[in-house]
Amino acid sequence: MAEKKSNTGVEFMDKLVSLCKRRGFIFQSSEIYGGLNGCWDYGPMGVELLNNLKSSWWKSMTYRDNVEGLDASILMHPRVWEASGHVENFTDPMVDCKECKARFREDQIDESSCGNRAYQGRKAVKCQLEGKFTSARQFNLMFKSYIGPLEESSAIVYLRPETAQGIYVNFHNVKDSTRQKVPFGIAQIGKAFRNEINTKNFLFRTREFEQMEMQFFVKPGSDMEWFSYWKEERRKWYLDLGMSADKIHFHEHEKLAHYASAAFDIEFEFPFGWGEIEGIHNRTGYDLGRHQEFSGKNLEYYDDEAKEKYIPFVIETSAGASRGCMAFLCNAFAEEEAPTGDGKVETRTVMKFHPKLAPVKAAILPLVRKDGMPEIGTKLYDELKNSFKVFYDESGTVGKRYRRMDEVGTPYCITIDSETLQNQTVTVRERDSMKQERIALDAVRAFLFEKLEM
Ligand code: ATP
Repeated sequence: MAEKKSNTGVEFMDKLVSLCKRRGFIFQSSEIYGGLNGCWDYGPMGVELLNNLKSSWWKSMTYRDNVEGLDASILMHPRVWEASGHVENFTDPMVDCKECKARFREDQIDESSCGNRAYQGRKAVKCQLEGKFTSARQFNLMFKSYIGPLEESSAIVYLRPETAQGIYVNFHNVKDSTRQKVPFGIAQIGKAFRNEINTKNFLFRTREFEQMEMQFFVKPGSDMEWFSYWKEERRKWYLDLGMSADKIHFHEHEKLAHYASAAFDIEFEFPFGWGEIEGIHNRTGYDLGRHQEFSGKNLEYYDDEAKEKYIPFVIETSAGASRGCMAFLCNAFAEEEAPTGDGKVETRTVMKFHPKLAPVKAAILPLVRKDGMPEIGTKLYDELKNSFKVFYDESGTVGKRYRRMDEVGTPYCITIDSETLQNQTVTVRERDSMKQERIALDAVRAFLFEKLEM
């Protein structure tokens, strides 16, 4: 099996986006109305992938003795966003093209997307800014709404732009209810909303997305040790889920936020270049300190062994579930030359997901629709369906059915053929190697449990 010649970034993205729609991973939001910019829907395959990703994160982060889970509400008291600095500082500088009226982030002007044709293809952003664009204005990225029936300033609420604040304000609730002692962490998965000026690159930058965040509270002084620990834990998580080691790296922030003492991004090499998929930050005592100041409530931790009080420092691991999904989609996509069985060679598209992420774990395929094969197939399907996401398919040639399962990344295809009728064995085909082996029909369930590491 040979790798096909590599695609350019644009070709790759076109193929991936088209596969995602055709096979039910990702649809445009409100597509029949022309779509809604920056919003995407996860189809039957996409939601399985997303859920598998989130559940893998949840298990790896909270199935340990020093991290607790939380699910805080999206709407929070507006003072939260004053304390966090989002009301004042969560802004991007934006400029408008005076001719086409399109709006851009000043630091991300992309000539090719500007309707001002005279400037298309020109690289000199500076020359566009002179004369053709308005001067920059600050634009707050938080979505605003009103709580209750009156649309007045005292009723303003925001759709949270990050999940972290729900964790900070619950620090004492979680600590007291679980009797955790510092160091410990709180983890949460949830939707976040940002009114991004330019949404682009598919799931990479959207207006509604999901985050998987963990804030780890530590004693000041021990923070850099914990920072290194979590940095390595998080890198390992991506590798354990099949991310190619040469496609991720750490990027160290040179310019730190005023409250941060260390910050690294985990970046993935997308078809359009390296992009952040997760941030790991040492946020010092800033967050709890600010909430203590704005709420007037004491958020110190009392260490009863050392008999001292302090504001814990926070090590944050902040990953995008949607952006991570896109990284795993890109990582899995492959086109290969594969033999058809009758001496010819064809190109197969295969999503090489780690079995833990694969939306469908196994397909049950009777070779023909007669001789009792469909009956054996449906019986096997019924036996497996409560334990695994499995798929039964009896239409088309078996080669075509294999290709369909390759396209959604199904690790195993189980075929019932004439030998099954004689000796109660089936063929198991592994997706990546395409190798086949025969196993006993009644061993399929145990085989899948073992191979899928479930
Ligand atoms: P960027 O610089 O790309 O805007 P950020 O540094 O603002 O990202 P954080 O605030 O650190 O991002 O958010 C943590 C994670 O949330 C990011 O690593 C990313 O995976 C995800 N994320 C942030 N903004 C978006 C978005 N608009 N769409 C999808 N995922 C996002």
